[in-house]
Amino acid sequence: MTNFCENCGATLTPNAKFCISCGHATSQELVIQQSGPPIPSPNQKKPLYKRWWFWLIAFAVVGLIANIIVNVIIPLENSVGG
Ligand SMILES: [Zn+2]
Repeated sequence: MTNFCENCGATLTPNAKFCISCGHATSQELVIQQSGPPIPSPNQKKPLYKRWWFWLIAFAVVGLIANIIVNVIIPLENSVGG
């Protein structure tokens, strides 16, 4: 790959940082390497409903509420209603 000086048109070596004829900096070194956008990490936070313990707790709470209804509320209604 042969480069030419933008200033004077002299032939530059591929790895030349400056023109050997006029000292003009080559365009390769003028390119500013911009950092790209941050790569999203694969370990993104999962939604709560996708976690196994969420359903474990949910069923435990539902079972507890059902247990209270069957063992506490229904006997109370039966005793009061007569
Ligand atoms: Zn030059």
